[in-house]
Amino acid sequence: MSGISDSFQRPISYLRISVTDRCNLRCTYCMPPEGVTLIPHSDVLRYEEILSIVRIAASMGITKVRLSGGEPLVRAGLVDFVRMLAEVREIEDLSLTTNGVLLKDYAAALKNAGLQRVNVSLDSLKRQRFREITGYDRLQDVLEGITEARRAGIAPIKVNVVVMRGINDDELLDFARLTADGWNVRFIELMPILNGGAKQPEFVPANEMWDILSQLGKLEPCSPLMGNGPASYYRLPGARGTIGFITPVSDHFCFKCNRLRLTADGKLLPCLLSSEEFDLRAPLRAGASPADISQLLLKAIAAKPAGHRVSQGVVSQRRPMTQVGG
Ligand code: SAM
Ligand code: SF4
Repeated sequence: MSGISDSFQRPISYLRISVTDRCNLRCTYCMPPEGVTLIPHSDVLRYEEILSIVRIAASMGITKVRLSGGEPLVRAGLVDFVRMLAEVREIEDLSLTTNGVLLKDYAAALKNAGLQRVNVSLDSLKRQRFREITGYDRLQDVLEGITEARRAGIAPIKVNVVVMRGINDDELLDFARLTADGWNVRFIELMPILNGGAKQPEFVPANEMWDILSQLGKLEPCSPLMGNGPASYYRLPGARGTIGFITPVSDHFCFKCNRLRLTADGKLLPCLLSSEEFDLRAPLRAGASPADISQLLLKAIAAKPAGHRVSQGVVSQRRPMTQVGG
């Protein structure tokens, strides 16, 4: 099959997989300090099970896979799993989203295994503030992880910054200045989603970020680094790297959504904020055929909504981000 589209004629080509709901940080906007209720180990999909799903999805037209979590690098055996995925012929784009804490230990091995690119989430360049946001004093590890990933030749590396009013919005210029040195930085609007009950900070709309960043010069539009994801990209005069904006709140990009999500316990979600989900784990473990699994994939695709309504304050999400992968 050459491709699949949903009921709104959006081509679906991207599977985003949460390989674990465990995490070695506790970002305030994502998890409470004590963590969230964890999925029992026996309910977490085994790598072979995820691989079967990816192979079936690839045969239907999925060409892009991103591994996320929780923190994907805390799951044992991830490098070998990346190698298995890299062997799936139809997957042209294999990437990882990580908090970067363990990246320096794995960057070279991941690159050798076939990982093409990585997104590192980093919300502050200040040590104490990083600790306050994430609960841990690991900023230096993340910075070393980014350096090591560059050294290993993983490219592009995108640094994702969730911008929070009164918390890290005074660091926009510091992050943007790093693009002179080749960093690719993306500023993300905070979504008001489930985080275990803690009060969410206020989001900063991208147009406000834009005004602040314009102090550094005119932002010239440029083409995406790779793929056709939701970010819009710009470059400061003379900068080697880019600045991206991801605007799930002020200007949602659902009209071009091309993704499906697989949770750590094997449910397909038609949308990040879906309350509807399609179980693949039970059928897989009961011996379902590839044709049965592909029917379930088609059902999940058919159930993709036109869009979410976060900007209107409607959040129908059933699961924490750690199970869905962000
Ligand atoms: N642990 C990895 C990491 O932090 O990159 C992967 C999983 S994390 C859930 C994936 C992404 O979701 C991160 O970039 C994180 O900043 C983002 N995220 C989590 N909660 C968010 C929220 N409320 N609004 C916007 N982005 C959020
Ligand atoms: Fe962990 Fe990523 Fe959530 Fe932070 S955003 S708590 S690193 S899963």
